[in-house]
Amino acid sequence: MTGILNPATEETIAEVEAAGVEETDAAVARAKEAFPGWRAVAPTDRARLLRRLATLVEEHGEELARLESRNVGKPIQGARGEIGMVAQVFHYYAGAVDKHFGETIPVAGGVDLTFREPLGVVGLIVPWNFPLNIASWKLGPALACGNTLVLKPAELTPLSALRLGELALEAGIPEGVVNILPGKGSVVGTRLVEHPDVAKIGFTGSTEVGQEVMRGAAGTIKRVTLELGGKSANVVFADADLERAAAAAPYAVFDNAGQDCCARSRILVEASVYDRFADLLVEATRSVKVGDPEEDATEMGPLVSAAHRAKVASFVDGEPLFRGEAPEGKGFWYPATLVEARPDDRIAREEVFGPVAALIPFADEAEAIRIANDSEYGLSGSIWTENGGRALRAARAIETGVLSINSNSSVRPSTPFGGFKRSGFGRELGMHGLAGYSEIKNVFYSTEG
Ligand code: NAD
Repeated sequence: MTGILNPATEETIAEVEAAGVEETDAAVARAKEAFPGWRAVAPTDRARLLRRLATLVEEHGEELARLESRNVGKPIQGARGEIGMVAQVFHYYAGAVDKHFGETIPVAGGVDLTFREPLGVVGLIVPWNFPLNIASWKLGPALACGNTLVLKPAELTPLSALRLGELALEAGIPEGVVNILPGKGSVVGTRLVEHPDVAKIGFTGSTEVGQEVMRGAAGTIKRVTLELGGKSANVVFADADLERAAAAAPYAVFDNAGQDCCARSRILVEASVYDRFADLLVEATRSVKVGDPEEDATEMGPLVSAAHRAKVASFVDGEPLFRGEAPEGKGFWYPATLVEARPDDRIAREEVFGPVAALIPFADEAEAIRIANDSEYGLSGSIWTENGGRALRAARAIETGVLSINSNSSVRPSTPFGGFKRSGFGRELGMHGLAGYSEIKNVFYSTEG
């Protein structure tokens, strides 16, 4: 049994069994057995079951949001938004079931057809920062395409996924189609990656573990989708609406206490407006409301664990430009922190995954793009400018999978999400998300003879 903590109080809120290799094999066998029946379900019926699951998530929205808030320490308003997105994702993929079609291709001597076939049993491995939200990005397209699955939540945050498993049964999705298996990454995760009957791993987590997953998957030529770390740039040009950019910047990095792969944790500011922007940013960061995650007004909660807080703290030495307030006593609190940095500093290169932002000045557009791209990651990012031509020029030049102009938003159910470079490959969400959970089959039918 593993004790599951509330990071805001350090209280144990649940005890959860950790599965071993034997249970993993049993879950894969169960999913394999359920696959022929699930792929044969008529598309309209599969869509109806997914829609029912979406509705159940909505009906249990407050319960799931509270569970997520207590298990991760995230502010309840943010948790409500995330659970709302889970339902939207299931609604979206319910609608996608009968719109993911093949083609007919002109060829000589017959008719050529393509089909989108399910892969079989897929293994889904997710992190602790957005537990149910990220799980839904994989579950939705996997089920829509007719796959069965084994989902392994992160060790620290299995509760919402376990509840989702119950709701999937209540929705009428047949037993064996959705299997939720809490356990260690080194045991359940490794076994799923190596298991000969698992056709694909949909993984979200750190770049280091992503590398292990890729290596492990080689043995069985398993398909992999990797959504990994980030160190994204928030580029503020002198011609931007500075007030708007500064008001938005804290949420782009302190949301979820910075435990966000999309965190724009490098704030690049044109030198001519650097001092003014820094003042505005300090004021905006000062107003971030830190405290009890269960209060509606709270904007930032604690970090997920003591070990993670120690890691985050190791990035900050010397006097920062700004350090916010954090509650004393129980809970893994860490204050919102702004640090002035140079592009080569560790704080400007490594993923902190906590509420620490690095401010970096740049001289002109060319230097901004050079610094933004001087990273092994390429997940998200923002550009702030009132010059439309510059906005599109910079957007094309920055090496990243997801980018917003005069905004910090990164994810929507209907638009593709994923990384460049060491932030991974494959796309989740939108219709592109279906490609990762289906295989194209080509069939030629001779019309001769
Ligand atoms: P992690 O890599 O430590 O763990 C992720 C998952 O992998 C967990 O379920 C874990 O149990 C499992 N795991 C661990 N070792 C494994 C192994 N050897 N084989 C198979 N599975 C294994 O990541 P984390 O600390 O839970 O999450 C933080 C990281 O996730 C950050 O780097 C963050 O950027 C990244 N992340 C990326 C995205 C994205 O979409 N790109 C989204 C959220 C988080």
